[in-house]
Amino acid sequence: MQALIYDGQKVQAVNHLEEPQPAKGEVVIQSHRMGVCATDLEICRGYMGFAGVLGHEFVGTVEQANGAKESRRWVGKRVVGSINCVCAQCDLCRRGLGEHCRDRTVLGIVGRDGCFAERFVLPANNLIEVPDSIDDDHAVFTEPLAAALQIIRQLTIEGRPYITVLGDGRLGLLCTQVLAQQNATVRCVGKHLSKLALCEKWGVKHRQLEDVGMRADQDIVVDCTGSPDGLVTAMNMVRPRGKIVLKTTVAAGPLGDHIDLSPLVVNEIELIGSRCGPFSEALMALGTGSVDVLSLISRRVKLADGVEALQAASSPDVIKILLEP
Ligand SMILES: [Zn+2]
Ligand SMILES: [Zn+2]
Repeated sequence: MQALIYDGQKVQAVNHLEEPQPAKGEVVIQSHRMGVCATDLEICRGYMGFAGVLGHEFVGTVEQANGAKESRRWVGKRVVGSINCVCAQCDLCRRGLGEHCRDRTVLGIVGRDGCFAERFVLPANNLIEVPDSIDDDHAVFTEPLAAALQIIRQLTIEGRPYITVLGDGRLGLLCTQVLAQQNATVRCVGKHLSKLALCEKWGVKHRQLEDVGMRADQDIVVDCTGSPDGLVTAMNMVRPRGKIVLKTTVAAGPLGDHIDLSPLVVNEIELIGSRCGPFSEALMALGTGSVDVLSLISRRVKLADGVEALQAASSPDVIKILLEP
């Protein structure tokens, strides 16, 4: 079958990858749509030291299952799925912190082949059925939208705070929309007029980074820049005793190793790391249309042309690239 692979050195589209074999309790999913995200690009720069089939954003149909009735009942269903595959036994799993399982593998990120393939496997326990009312173009955004929704699970938003979302890329534009629906004054700060124009369409404030004064006056800054500079900018924008939510995941770079964190101490800033979020809430938001995802789709590319797709995804005028088998 066809797949997009990172071998630790380079990305390549392969034609003859062996069919994935589901372990007990796992299902084989046939991919309909897959989303390229910044994490995929970082992996190709060495993030997480991953090698294998890339990709973790998908919607697809379950083709077969290995195991008990519970797994087999998924066959034929259209699904999305949590990317963290957990042991269910460690101390963190037992505390309900499965996303942080000490023994986890993560689809296309840690120790498990991803979804940029005609077929891939995932535990049946990870699946959520997609209602017929939500088409593939929407459903493929479940994972990144869930990640955006995680922010409002981690923050208490009260007293109409000033929130800046740093970054006008894929995740920044999702976080901006989610936060703009809270009781807060939200602006998206980015570098690309064409992307910020979407905020205009949604009625959300937006500014170009070069036009923004670093006045240390924001209650909350959400860093979605995907760059180590983002944290530095965030530290300059947030007020003393304010909060920074870090969504950026980067392969360690020259800057990433040399950031002066003393402003966190001096200004008593709370730094909150934020990763995966609630899939069911994301699906619900996609179903009601409260978040505009279709405007984020820049291009559709066949899996066979996946190498070009990844290259295009790092270009500044591109937002979301969807892969199709
Ligand atoms: Zn992602
Ligand atoms: Zn565990």
